[in-house]
Amino acid sequence: MSPRASAAPPPPAFVTRKALPRRPKQVGREVALEYIRRLEETYPDAKCSLDYRSPYELVVATILSAQCTDVRVNMVTPDLFARFPNAAALAGAEPEELENRIKSTGFFRNKTKSLLGMARAVVDKHRGEIPRTMDELTHLPGIGRKTANVVLGNAFGLNEGVVVDTHVTRVSFRLGLTRETDAVKIEQDLIEVVPREKWTLFSHLLIFHGRAICVARRPLCEKCPLWDLCPSSLVVPVASGKGTAEGRRRPRKTSARGPDSR
Ligand code: SF4
Repeated sequence: MSPRASAAPPPPAFVTRKALPRRPKQVGREVALEYIRRLEETYPDAKCSLDYRSPYELVVATILSAQCTDVRVNMVTPDLFARFPNAAALAGAEPEELENRIKSTGFFRNKTKSLLGMARAVVDKHRGEIPRTMDELTHLPGIGRKTANVVLGNAFGLNEGVVVDTHVTRVSFRLGLTRETDAVKIEQDLIEVVPREKWTLFSHLLIFHGRAICVARRPLCEKCPLWDLCPSSLVVPVASGKGTAEGRRRPRKTSARGPDSR
């Protein structure tokens, strides 16, 4: 998943700010479109990191991914899908067996309840097929708007919303695309500036960028393709960084991480 060479102009001689601004300046649609263009160039392979072969498998993997890495989930699901290949098989699973099989993903008791509830509802109300609408999906046990967006966007190719996870929350705040911290409000802000056909891709781009460069603890702004547009950039050209308000910004008035440091 290593990013391609920067799509932005190379940083000139620069100084670095010591900390991120607490409330980055909000950017408009034009800048958002340029972000997307550069991120697409930087991460041409951006896609869902969960392994799945069907909508059912993606629903299961997404439920398991709560508070767990996609890498860990991908280690658990091959055996799980071999044992329970569809919603009907999963609906009949013994809770203890399911708990043991998914234990390493954490929160396994709650996840077992969600998986069984989801599978039984899919069998009872949707003849064993994962439904294709936001309303039907979010009425299934264990499925919220984020999971529904993942499934609709990736398994069905429907851009119904933007997935807002921990990376999207952090990176979109730093980029000045939102000033909200609530996922539903962040999604609304992103929907305003991102073209609908890019909604699913856009969250993959921010997730890839959040993992590779705009990391939680200290973003690697020196390597960022968006450094010259991002209102949180720690990279400030010498001309504007020395002797300016930006250059003199006091670290104690700023947050080191943004709204989400996970
Ligand atoms: S790495 Fe730095 S410049 Fe790039 S998006 Fe994150 S805060 Fe902005």
